[in-house]
Amino acid sequence: MNSRVLLASLIIFSGAMYCMENSSDLTIDDFKPLITSHEIQSAIKRTAEEISRDYKGKSLTLVMIIKGAIHLTSDLMRNLTIPATLEYIQASSYGQNGTTPGKLSLFGIERLNLAGKDVLVVDDILDTGETLYETTCELRKQCPASLKTLVLLKKFPSDPKKHDPLNMKKYSDYPIFSIGNEFVIGYGLDYKEKFRELPDIWVKKN
Ligand code: 5GP
Ligand code: MG
Repeated sequence: MNSRVLLASLIIFSGAMYCMENSSDLTIDDFKPLITSHEIQSAIKRTAEEISRDYKGKSLTLVMIIKGAIHLTSDLMRNLTIPATLEYIQASSYGQNGTTPGKLSLFGIERLNLAGKDVLVVDDILDTGETLYETTCELRKQCPASLKTLVLLKKFPSDPKKHDPLNMKKYSDYPIFSIGNEFVIGYGLDYKEKFRELPDIWVKKN
């Protein structure tokens, strides 16, 4: 086999491998609707009212964990009736892994100045709790006046209906929905950087 033929075969082979890899990627057909945009908006409004009551007379510093909490933070902030400022940090553990977590990385904490501020960390979903635990440990070192957390979704291994809201408060100060131990996308949550734009939350079909 001459070198040109060998090179052409290699190109065709790697092209085929690339296509095979991508064809195994999930599409929207692999998901079904779980929580509607309407349900999300109503729940965020109720939570924003609760927060506005809890922090009455104070001003709040929201620390958004990007990228997943982008829509949540924006909708929450617009429903608050107390003054609020916005900061952000980045946490990533899924990356290109798709539906399985990898090593957690946090960026952007050192440039914040939270001393004496009432801080509310806003995250998309709490699974093992590692992201929120690590984040709050780091933020606490800056001596905020107070530090609380809000999560849109809390994952539970068994039937989420068995978990009452008081139990949810063990994990976060303002938990909004509880879900089963399944992979979800939409409303900021991604699969390999896709589907963040969806207004509803979708769950992977079994
Ligand atoms: P934890 O550190 O609590 O185990 O995981 C939290 C982070 O993992 C979330 O902030 C989110 O970025 C990611 N994550 C956990 N479960 C899911 C999921 O079902 N879907 C997506 N898209 N991300 C998830
Ligand atoms: Mg996240």
